[in-house]
Amino acid sequence: MTINTHLQQLKGSYLFTEIVNRTQAYKTVHPDAHILRLGVGDVTRPLPPAIIDAMHRAVDELAASKTFRGYGPEEGYVWLKQAIIDNEYRPRGVELGLAEVFISDGAGSDLGNLSELFDSTNRVAILDPSYPAYVDSSKMAGRDIIFLPSHAENKFVPDLPKQQADIIYLCFPNNPTGAVLTLDQLKLWVDYAREHKSIIIFDAAYECFIQDKNIPHSIYEIPGAKEVAIEVRSYSKVAGFTAVRCGYTIVPKETGLQTMWLRRQCTKYNGTSYVAQRAAMATYTPEGKKGLAANLNYYKQTAQVISGGLTALGYEVYGGENAPYIWCRTPNKMASWEFFDLLLNQCQVVCTPGSGFGPAGEGYVRFSAFSPRKDCEEALIRMKEL
Ligand SMILES: *Cc1c(COP(=O)(O)O)cnc(C)c1O
Repeated sequence: MTINTHLQQLKGSYLFTEIVNRTQAYKTVHPDAHILRLGVGDVTRPLPPAIIDAMHRAVDELAASKTFRGYGPEEGYVWLKQAIIDNEYRPRGVELGLAEVFISDGAGSDLGNLSELFDSTNRVAILDPSYPAYVDSSKMAGRDIIFLPSHAENKFVPDLPKQQADIIYLCFPNNPTGAVLTLDQLKLWVDYAREHKSIIIFDAAYECFIQDKNIPHSIYEIPGAKEVAIEVRSYSKVAGFTAVRCGYTIVPKETGLQTMWLRRQCTKYNGTSYVAQRAAMATYTPEGKKGLAANLNYYKQTAQVISGGLTALGYEVYGGENAPYIWCRTPNKMASWEFFDLLLNQCQVVCTPGSGFGPAGEGYVRFSAFSPRKDCEEALIRMKEL
């Protein structure tokens, strides 16, 4: 056997381990310190009762012989796929067929697995900074990557690639910068992909944080996008399902990839948990919608608290409006990790160093609206003394 050297050569996931290590080291020396974690990239609010009830009912069904279920369809139950079409897409003028909706155990798996549809010689374009999964899964497949730097000077929206990019990962609203694209800006990418016969993998995990009416929620709001785009979504952020695990991916027939993806899934994926799909279904009930909105509003208000607070302290901040992330320029051109250490040592505040998301993230840190509100308020008070 010879191993996949591309995978072997990947560096360890340095960012989050390093954050934990430095925080732990501080705690060892200062055991009584009250550390405020503002870097949290995971949801923190409990699931709404309507979701929990639906999961309980699903579990009870599995407990009785009359209602017991075994394997479901690999691509997900029709009732959930229909609910997604009816609730997420039709209201935005996007018509999809049931066969184009694939239920998954979350965006993470699909974002990595979709890479299998394409030859390893394809060149990939990825925003820098970005969520690490795009870079790592491209590297595992041995593909060349074109990095597209996004920074304050281009308002975190990079220019189109100058070279041929075959696969393009886009994530809007963006993690970590919080940037969004208008319809016209997103159209440029769709036009590029159509012209260059590229495929866009559109990560819409933060779609639910869009507040601005002019920002598209789905890439399919752009005419012609169905030929060149796969859209990946998740219940992780909108419904707090990071532990439940459920998401979905749209592979339109027009891409010519829908049957291939179905074939791949039927071989390598035996379907999403019934309980998780019932939980996802409950997000579309009136009670479920209310519960989701309450949690999302809480996060959105926390985003305002952080963003407003940092601005008042004189920081240069981006994002936070249509995304749960506040992207903050470090003061005095400090390096990301230098500012991380300063905040940890002087204020006992933990943030996420921007350089961990790619070289263009250097000089920025990310604050998260998933952090407990009172920790954010306390952090801002402490940072005033800085
Ligand atoms: C959180 C997140 C997701 C969701 O991942 P799941 O596997 O569905 O939990 C997807 N993309 C980005 C950029 C994220 O930050």
